[in-house]
Amino acid sequence: MVADVPTRRALLTGLTALPVAAAATADERKERRSKKRKPAKPKVPHVDVAIVGAGVFGAWTAWHLLRAGKSVRLFDAYGAGHARASSGGESRVIRMGYGADTIYSEMARDSLQYWKDLSDSASAPIFHNTGVLWFAPQGDAYTAQSLAWLQANRVRHEHGDVRWLQDKYRQMQFYQGETGVLETETGALIAGRGVQEVIADAQIAVERVVMPAPLFSKRIKQHALPDGGTADQLVYAAGPWLAELFPQQLMNKIVATRQEVYHFGAPQGDTRFAPPELPVWADFNNGRIVYGIPDLEGAGFKIAIDVHGPVIDPDTVERQLTPAGIAEARAYIARRFPGLASAPLIGGRVCQYENSSNGDYLIDRFPGQERIWLVGGGSGHGFKNGPTVGKRVAAHILDANLAVEPRFSFATKGTVAARTVF
Ligand SMILES: Cc1cc2nc3c(=O)[nH]c(=O)nc-3n(C[C@H](O)[C@H](O)[C@H](O)COP(=O)(O)OP(=O)(O)OC[C@H]3O[C@@H](n4cnc5c(N)ncnc54)[C@H](O)[C@@H]3O)c2cc1C
Repeated sequence: MVADVPTRRALLTGLTALPVAAAATADERKERRSKKRKPAKPKVPHVDVAIVGAGVFGAWTAWHLLRAGKSVRLFDAYGAGHARASSGGESRVIRMGYGADTIYSEMARDSLQYWKDLSDSASAPIFHNTGVLWFAPQGDAYTAQSLAWLQANRVRHEHGDVRWLQDKYRQMQFYQGETGVLETETGALIAGRGVQEVIADAQIAVERVVMPAPLFSKRIKQHALPDGGTADQLVYAAGPWLAELFPQQLMNKIVATRQEVYHFGAPQGDTRFAPPELPVWADFNNGRIVYGIPDLEGAGFKIAIDVHGPVIDPDTVERQLTPAGIAEARAYIARRFPGLASAPLIGGRVCQYENSSNGDYLIDRFPGQERIWLVGGGSGHGFKNGPTVGKRVAAHILDANLAVEPRFSFATKGTVAARTVF
């Protein structure tokens, strides 16, 4: 037998052995491969809209888009309605009187219904119907225009001169020539908890991620999200952080200013500074508007001076009340609310307005981009209108031909004059 020629037996053995060997090798390879294989990546979704910012504007935008059947992801660097957000904290005013700015009156009227519906289904009230009292010296144009709008639109209200004011609110001190308008349908909203309630009602989870400025993948022709997900449209509702995200477009156009609010404690058993005895109130105060919210949920009598403070960074600002601010609030209280002249300061908060140059909101496309929206510029009066701002953003996304309201356009946003007050 020639050594190199295999016998039939050898051939058969070899043949039968071959698949076994091959199978073993395949198993080994499989095992080796599976050892090398990374854990399976969770599938990252594609959504219709990704929203950056779960403040009042972003939350209501998500709410409306989800109701309209859109798929949405909602991102926030710190979570919903957090302490550093402009929408954080305890309470906000909702009023309809806006002088000649009837666009905001109409938005507030529409928004109120959304807040009421939300409040009705929430475990604790989000809207408190305390009424809103606006008072000013006789002849004040803003007051007269607000009154005219309330009358023309059959919104329930009362109004009167200094005697009417003094009879109605004996815990306050009014001065010669003052007049007032009381809106009876409006009042106060609960802020941070209100935003969280909107998100719960929308049934969406907030993803806690610091989002970058838009990333567009040319390969897939989609907006790419940091985790590999994609979105057709992006909404940046980043409040006082908007200019940081888009410095070239928004630096000095949306400016965050430091604002203080103070809570004073009425004497034990004294109900004169809580609803229903005291409504939300705002005093024109020679242009240096002071406003307050009666004691809600035990937070105390809240007072704030509506004048822009210094420009700040919302991430790093130290949030401590200033002695000068507290002193100004106390001096005002002594003059207007004598029963609280020696009330203790029981709380307070440092927040920020995100001002536009003229106080108008920003709801417009990023310049030159069809599918990126910039939403912000609440300017100290945005909270109440969260529902209608969100509704408008959703309407733009649903209808690409809907015209941008000129007052909310990017083009009408000028440079904000930097002010330092405190
Ligand atoms: C003291 C004070 C009193 C006020 N009083 C009233 C009032 O009485 N009535 C009224 O109507 N309005 C009032 N306002 C104004 C109103 O609260 C604001 O206009 C409104 O809350 C702004 O909401 P927003 O959603 O634009 O901003 P924000 O609430 O600040 O939300 C923006 C969100 O974006 C997130 N974000 C930012 N950048 C990123 C990023 N890169 N990645 C992920 N997330 C990001 C932030 O974390 C934040 O949560 C007041 C404001 C203040 C400060």
